[in-house]
Amino acid sequence: MTEHARVAIIGSGPAAHTAAIYLSRAELQPVLYEGMLAGGTAAGGQLTTTTDVENYPGFPQGISGPDLMDSMRAQSERFGTKIITETITKLDLKSRPFKMWREYDDNEGDAPAHTADAVIIATGANARRLSLKGEETYWQNGISACAVCDGAVPIFRNKHLVVIGGGDSAAEEAMFLTKYGSKVTVLVRKEFLRASKAMQKRLLANPKVEVKFNHEALEVLGENKPRGLMTNLRIKNNKTGEEETLDANGLFYAVGHDPATSLVKGQLDLDEDGYVLTQPGTSYTSIPGVFAAGDVQDKRYRQAITSAGSGCIAALEAEKYLADAEDDKPDQIEKNSEVKKGDLNGAENVPEYRSNPLL
Ligand code: FAD
Ligand code: NDP
Repeated sequence: MTEHARVAIIGSGPAAHTAAIYLSRAELQPVLYEGMLAGGTAAGGQLTTTTDVENYPGFPQGISGPDLMDSMRAQSERFGTKIITETITKLDLKSRPFKMWREYDDNEGDAPAHTADAVIIATGANARRLSLKGEETYWQNGISACAVCDGAVPIFRNKHLVVIGGGDSAAEEAMFLTKYGSKVTVLVRKEFLRASKAMQKRLLANPKVEVKFNHEALEVLGENKPRGLMTNLRIKNNKTGEEETLDANGLFYAVGHDPATSLVKGQLDLDEDGYVLTQPGTSYTSIPGVFAAGDVQDKRYRQAITSAGSGCIAALEAEKYLADAEDDKPDQIEKNSEVKKGDLNGAENVPEYRSNPLL
């Protein structure tokens, strides 16, 4: 028998759970598919892979990432969210109601067992790793994929830190880290930076930054004990083949993220890097009734709090969408459906339709 929800949420990070809290408090009985190691990450999302979160408001002493996500999950359930521990492997957004297939309980060819009137995509993103020798040993013990999240911790204070990458994230993270480290070296595999000209100028002018072009990391070395910290990084000049070992107590990857958008590819408008395009300041995607929140639509800020904020926006917009549909106001829903790719890129063309009157 088909199980129908008014609104389905796909994902389980701060965006998904914030949306679930708002929608369940609005008595819309959302169904949240939290995934079962979806994309290799446990239910709860990226924060389940970290230790202390020190920049999420409300926790002056910090909170562990898994504890924060357990609390968000409990809060979603408290108000009546139905949480299904399965990964959605196929989504049909072409006809209504929207249709979902689960990894273990549905066969792709069969009629879907689960449908919804509105869907919130909150499947997140994954920071790319480099699989360096020593990476597993020193991950979170010197190696991080998020300088803004981890840069302030004591192990990095007044130490030599290394950033890998040549894009805007690498430049931004390197400059951020100069507040804490004694020196920041940026390893760029090509002989030029990919970051914007303005960002390049600032980076290259910073006296605490050294940019090493044509350099790649080979191996992370460190203390040989449980939870030992990294102390050195072996690197190589890919032009000359020359190798050297740097003293380094921190290594930050800024080599890009992969948004989890395989479910919606070919259905929703995505940008050139595969992120879901949303109208600026909203969660509207190119299909009315489908909303996106969190890192899956944000390649710039990628923080727990910004994901949670966008989950709130998606919930308020989904709620309004469903209310309009119920009140039979197709004209307003039609306006939303007029959103074209160009509108999603620039604020100037945002249509009048607003779910959230505050926006
Ligand atoms: P995510 O956290 O990316 O979670 C989405 C989850 O949805 C996936 O992990 C998966 O479990 C599930 N999912 C995906 N696809 C499916 C599917 N098809 N079906 C069902 N479920 C699915 N931010 C901070 O603000 N402070 C920090 O200290 C901090 N530390 C970090 C440390 C690390 C190591 C990392 C990697 C990130 C850190 N961040 C931090 C960033 C923060 O974790 C992310 O910005 C935030 O988690 C993004 O939330 P999200 O809701 O978009 O989804
Ligand atoms: P990008 O994809 O732009 O850059 C990734 C960088 O990592 C590139 O320099 C790439 O090198 C390098 N890289 C990738 N794989 C490896 C590897 N295996 N070994 C070594 N280096 C590697 O990602 P960003 O996260 O920097 O940016 C993503 C998007 O977000 C961009 O559009 C960016 O403009 C935007 N952004 C904007 C910001 C701002 O405006 N303030 C801040 C942050 C991001 P190569 O160049 O050789 O491919």
